Amino acid sequence: MNPERTLVLIKPDGVKRGLIGRILSRFEDAGLKIVGTKMVQIDEDFGQKHYHDIAERRGEQVLHSLLKFMTSGPVVAMCLEGINAVENVRKMVGGTEPKGALPGTIRGDFAHMSFGHADTQKKAIENLIHASGTVTEAEQEVFLWFNMEELHSYKTVHEVHVF
Ligand code: ADP
Repeated sequence: MNPERTLVLIKPDGVKRGLIGRILSRFEDAGLKIVGTKMVQIDEDFGQKHYHDIAERRGEQVLHSLLKFMTSGPVVAMCLEGINAVENVRKMVGGTEPKGALPGTIRGDFAHMSFGHADTQKKAIENLIHASGTVTEAEQEVFLWFNMEELHSYKTVHEVHVF
């Protein structure tokens, strides 16, 4: 077995809407292990580091509105560990656009915004959560958000009693 680590952020909309507990529960319910977590208020510089490729992929306007959104309040950062954690967490998070995200996913269940509407308003789409897209991205993002001493090693009951 080769567990992976991935980075998850509960974005400012999730924090302000009081959804931290419900979102966290989904990952705990799936047996993913929280190995690090903290609440952070990021600034624009840090946001640029985290979203370093967004301008290329989505355009300057999206980067601008995304930085405004991500610095509008604290986020909850967590590092989750599990088998194929990157892929599993992305599946649970759902598609980027809440309008198209499937029911049962976090974005599909707790939001409904469309790209079209967000773009007309020149706002970032508020979709509650960020999750690393690939294993390589996850390694870089966990390193950016957490120091080694903030990441913990312990055995869950699943590991002790099931595996
Ligand atoms: P994901 O977060 O699903 O991996 P991206 O990395 O492509 O998606 O985009 C980062 C974030 O930028 C999205 O989660 C969303 O908040 C915002 N975003 C992306 N595209 C748009 C868009 N066209 N209009 C508004 N916001 C967008």
